Amino acid sequence: MIVTRALTKRYGRTLAVDAVDLDVREGDRYAFLGPNGSGKTTLVRMLLGLVYATSGEIEVLGKPIPARAAAVLPSIGSLVEGPAAYRHLSGRRNLELFDAAGAGGRRDRTRRVEDALDQVGLAGIDRRPVSAYSLGMRQRLGLAAALLRRPRLLILDEPTNGLDPRGIREIRDLLIALNLAGTTVFLSSHLLSEVEQLGTRVGIVDRGRLVLQDDLAALRAATGRVLVRSPDAPLISALLDGQVVARDGERVIIRHADAAELNAHLVGHGVRVSAIEAEHRTLEQVVLDVTGHGSDRIGGPE
Ligand code: ATP
Repeated sequence: MIVTRALTKRYGRTLAVDAVDLDVREGDRYAFLGPNGSGKTTLVRMLLGLVYATSGEIEVLGKPIPARAAAVLPSIGSLVEGPAAYRHLSGRRNLELFDAAGAGGRRDRTRRVEDALDQVGLAGIDRRPVSAYSLGMRQRLGLAAALLRRPRLLILDEPTNGLDPRGIREIRDLLIALNLAGTTVFLSSHLLSEVEQLGTRVGIVDRGRLVLQDDLAALRAATGRVLVRSPDAPLISALLDGQVVARDGERVIIRHADAAELNAHLVGHGVRVSAIEAEHRTLEQVVLDVTGHGSDRIGGPE
C-alpha cells in the first residue's frame, strides 16, 4: 500500500527524514512512532505529495508519488495537522462543500456526508458553526472529510491530537472497525500507549531514521518469564528457589517458558494461583532497546 525507498528530506542543515524504507501492507494498522520533531509530519506530507522529497522514491497504491498523485489521491483519506475548515459554516456544510466534486447525485452526497458524520460521532452536533467546535470536534470533522470517499487507505498524522480520553477511544474504535472492514490505516503517533492499543505493525523513527519496522506481535515476544499472583507467594520462593526473579507481595516473577506447565506444577504442590500469564516485552522496552532512550524521548501517556 505504501513503499518508500531511501526517502530523504533535508531542510537546510536539518535532516528531517533520513533514508526511510517504509513497507505498509494491505490490511495493516501501521503506526509510525516517534517523538515530536522526529520527522513524522514531513514524511506524511511527502506521502501525500504535499512536500517534495530531497531524494528517494515513494509508491502509494503501486503508483509513484508525486508523479501520479492525482490518480492515487482519490483512493486515499488523509488528515494532516490541523485540518482546515470554514469556521463560520457548520460541520455538515463544510463536508458538503468538501464533497461537492464527489460522484453521484444529491441524494448520494447527502448520504455520504451523513455516514461520515455518523462514523466520527458528530451527528447531532454537526449544525453548529465550526468556530464553536472544540479541538477534538475539529479533528473528528477532519477525519469525517477523510472518510467521505470510503478510502482504501487512510493516512493520518497524529489523529488523536487534542482529543480527550473518551474522544481518543472513539477514534481508536472507529479506526479498528474501518480496518477490520478492509481499510488499511497508516498513522503517526508519539504515544506508546496509543500505538500499543491500535497498531498491528509499527515503524519506530528516531531523529528522522527508521530504526525498526515489524509486526507488533513479533516485537512483543515472550520474555521467557511468567508473572504469577498468589496468596502463597512465600511458598513459591521455597518451591522454585533459583527460578524466582522477583517477589513483591503476592506478585512473583518466575523464569519459566510455559505458563500452563508452571501453573500445573504450582497447583500440584498446593500453591493457590489467583493469576498467571507469560510476560511479554513492552513496546517501551523495544523502543529503549533500539534507540537507547526511553519514554522521556518517546512519549508515554500524557
Ligand atoms: P511534531 O509531532 O512535533 O510535528 P514531527 O515528528 O512531525 O514532529 P516534523 O514536523 O516532520 O517532525 O519535523 C522534523 C524536523 O524538520 C524538525 O527538526 C523540524 O524543525 C524540521 N522541519 C519541519 N518542517 C520544516 C520546514 N518547513 N522548514 C524547516 N524545517 C522544518
